[in-house]
Amino acid sequence: MRQHGKLEYGGHAAPQRTCVGCRVRTAKSELLRLVRIEDHLVPDLRGRLSGRGASLHPSLSCLELAERRRAFPRAFRVTGPLDVSRVRAHLEEESRNVM
Ligand SMILES: [Zn+2]
Repeated sequence: MRQHGKLEYGGHAAPQRTCVGCRVRTAKSELLRLVRIEDHLVPDLRGRLSGRGASLHPSLSCLELAERRRAFPRAFRVTGPLDVSRVRAHLEEESRNVM
């Protein structure tokens, strides 16, 4: 019997969310929470913004996937397009820091 996996993290199942880009379920702490402010999406970096949110891996490829799949209007239950430029700018900045 193998006992690997979540138990190694202290026995608590971490809360999970599904990335709106690649649809992979991941620990909530690994995902970036996005919230909508009017027709803009912004990264909720401190987890303090209220309202409906969407979870995304902090990666540009998942952002692009989500856009291509029109996942954001669906996640936020709006019909119009949502501006993701602030999210993209944040992710671009993050990826520069990692490089
Ligand atoms: Zn993803």
